Amino acid sequence: MLKVETIETCYGPSQALFGVDLEVGAGELVALMGRNGMGKTTTIRSIFGLTPPRAGRITFAGRELMRLPPHRIARLGLGLVPEGRRCFPNLTVRENLLVAARPGAWTLAAVEALFPRLGERDRQAAATLSGGEQQMLAIGRALMTNPRLLVLDEATEGLAPVIRQEIWQAIRRLKAQGQAILIVDKSLSELLPLADRCVLLEKGVSAWTGPAEALTASLRDRYLGV
Ligand code: ATP
Repeated sequence: MLKVETIETCYGPSQALFGVDLEVGAGELVALMGRNGMGKTTTIRSIFGLTPPRAGRITFAGRELMRLPPHRIARLGLGLVPEGRRCFPNLTVRENLLVAARPGAWTLAAVEALFPRLGERDRQAAATLSGGEQQMLAIGRALMTNPRLLVLDEATEGLAPVIRQEIWQAIRRLKAQGQAILIVDKSLSELLPLADRCVLLEKGVSAWTGPAEALTASLRDRYLGV
């Protein structure tokens, strides 16, 4: 479904990606991994056209993504939960969800069933939610677009353990429902059992790709520092 081929991406004069390849098939959960600064967020920004690559190729369901503006890319069925959330603080939970809505199985009721806390806080301004609840809202917003591929960048980072568990539970449900997911997350113990495939980045290059079961201690040590 998503195919990223040898992309190279720069921030002005400084090159961050030197050749990243990855694929996500229908219903797959792919983990994009690597130590800090290795290019995970830049890879996601490249896919969404936020930092367009200067070389390589990205296709989604057979369509070329490179050179399309971000809103066109999103409309093709890619849903992003960016690092650091980004909800509309002055809109209510319900309004935040409804402004994102596009036709499909994910409705306000379906999102609030996945995250009951959002249902309980339906009429509250997003700014008054806890960090974890805002993260749920960010995921809910992405789901409201009814994406064919959901992309999560550090969705559980810095959250209270109870909330993290609720978010992982939701991710497990999404995966069980056949939602295709590309995910960056540091919680290996939660992530690896769910991952169909792992892509390890090192210095802007996809250095190793394989099933989670093949991620040996020496690979973890070398590419993840754990
Ligand atoms: P982290 O886990 O810390 O978020 P990451 O793997 O997501 O790391 P990126 O954020 O993609 O890594 O960063 C890759 C490289 O690009 C790093 O060397 C980083 O310093 C650089 N970089 C990231 N954002 C910018 C920017 N806006 N301008 C210039 N360089 C940047």
